[in-house]
Amino acid sequence: MSVWRKRLFEQIGDVFQEPQVKRTRTAHDGYFLCPKCDTHQLIPCQNGVHCSSCKLTIEVECRDLTIDFIQHMLDMVRSDHSTCKPGGRVAVTTMAGDMVFLTWTCSDCQQLEILL
Ligand SMILES: [Zn+2]
Ligand SMILES: [Zn+2]
Repeated sequence: MSVWRKRLFEQIGDVFQEPQVKRTRTAHDGYFLCPKCDTHQLIPCQNGVHCSSCKLTIEVECRDLTIDFIQHMLDMVRSDHSTCKPGGRVAVTTMAGDMVFLTWTCSDCQQLEILL
């Protein structure tokens, strides 16, 4: 169900684009809220992350999907652009029809990096 994956990634994009969204869109321990029921946090499960309330499962490569983890991924891709001027944008990118990725684009060299 790539629609929920997309909504989750959009949510993550918002959090990293506008710091004030951070507090309202995530639970206190940094887990993101379920994009379907909007009340429970997404906890790690076998295939990705899972909502214990509405039973939604979103397949992601990372099971421990938290603000800290995404921040760590961002720091890693940014370090590859240490010679670029600082700045960039986290966004949701759809490729090959319905493949949804969380990406970061360097505002200096315009290179697209896939985070998730
Ligand atoms: Zn839910
Ligand atoms: Zn760059």
